[in-house]
Amino acid sequence: MSDKSSEEQLLEFLYACPVGLIECDLAGEIALMNPYAMQHLLPLAGARDAGNLFAALEQHAPELRSIVSSYALATGRICDGHRVFVDLGGNRRTDVPKVLACTLVKLGADRLMVTVADISQQVVQEDRLRQADTWFATLLDGVNEYAALTITPAGRIASVDACFTKQTGHEHGAVTGCVLADVLETDAAGGDLRLDEQVEIAGRDGWHLQEGWQLRADGERYWCQRLVVARPDGEFMRPSGFSVVLRDVPRREAASEDLRRMLTCDHLTGASNRRHFAQNMEREQAHWRELRQSISLIVLDLDHFKAVNDTHGHPVGDTVLCRVADVCATLLPPRGIFARLGGEEFGVLLPRYDRDQALFLAEEMRRAIAGLEVETPSGLLKVTASLGCATLDEAGGSIDALTALADERLYAAKRAGRNRVYHPKACAA
Ligand code: GH3
Ligand code: MG
Ligand code: MG
Repeated sequence: MSDKSSEEQLLEFLYACPVGLIECDLAGEIALMNPYAMQHLLPLAGARDAGNLFAALEQHAPELRSIVSSYALATGRICDGHRVFVDLGGNRRTDVPKVLACTLVKLGADRLMVTVADISQQVVQEDRLRQADTWFATLLDGVNEYAALTITPAGRIASVDACFTKQTGHEHGAVTGCVLADVLETDAAGGDLRLDEQVEIAGRDGWHLQEGWQLRADGERYWCQRLVVARPDGEFMRPSGFSVVLRDVPRREAASEDLRRMLTCDHLTGASNRRHFAQNMEREQAHWRELRQSISLIVLDLDHFKAVNDTHGHPVGDTVLCRVADVCATLLPPRGIFARLGGEEFGVLLPRYDRDQALFLAEEMRRAIAGLEVETPSGLLKVTASLGCATLDEAGGSIDALTALADERLYAAKRAGRNRVYHPKACAA
């Protein structure tokens, strides 16, 4: 192999490398940088010197300079996966926060090697798992008689508590190490998910809750509420295991429904909560990739709502939010999801809806909201909303771009005078 070809090969390697590689001196002056590093560093540098690592990261990771200067050894790893949280001033609500992991290695007296990796998705997943863990703890507060056990990522029982034996009749020693789904036979005749399927979903979504018939060791059937929660791993995206809670409950469909509602709905209006909405958007996006059926999003924000609170008080404001959610829910098509995204902002996810259908529904919602009359001690109160619609096709299949586009149009509708649905011909974006 000639020198040239190995040089070419090195360049090819640097180009294709899916991690950012930078070589610089101790003052941060960059000697070499591959395209991936450039792609992530240049937007951060802004007007600052992109040829200097520390200058480029000054705003987002000013600590890097001192981390390097305080490293006393002649060579070695200065930091490993140091997280740099990047705020590029994008869409305030929906952007996945961008997080870069920087590893700095001192190669010699005045030579550093730096790797940069985009770990944004991993951080989002970690957050979700942490959130699931919090819910888990919250749920347990309200539960008296429950059996708790932990299982490995492969679904094998790692530990069970005393209640587990009492509830299921299986002895602790006899089940440790066994596959949970083999020990606890679920009667899936009613179309319920099996335990291993629940575990799979919990691994993906953070948790899964279901109620159904379960068999005890002696073959007796009982109605069981099963919650499976992924245990976050500090470092990796995959859960380090699962916690399972089993409750022997009277057969009451309402019991699991209550819990499900608590986890997926907004407490004030009963609309879906943001998390549930986001999960559904992701699921619909996956369908879109497969089937290319159009999906639309409407975002809706009440007009001058602060004035409603200021004039009539917060409780009246709350009533208005509930009435708006109710009236919109009545207009929702069967597969649509209506969610409260924040204070007085709502979102409508519309699978299989194209732009015109979404615009039509948005207009119906606008009209219905404008037609509401809320009774207050000082008379009837009326409110209006501004709405923006966008389709996943227009957004190139990206959920972030879809939400950003709908948001942009919502604010264009505000600027155009409020109480309207953004329409390209009527409002400038
Ligand atoms: P714009 O037309 O530009 O949207 O004006 P706005 O007043 O609606 O917007 P702004 O964002 O300034 O105010 C939103 C208000 O919504 C502020 C906050 O007090 C109120 N709000 C947020 N959450 C709740 C809630 O849960 N209940 C009540 N009553 N008010 C809320
Ligand atoms: Mg508003
Ligand atoms: Mg708002």
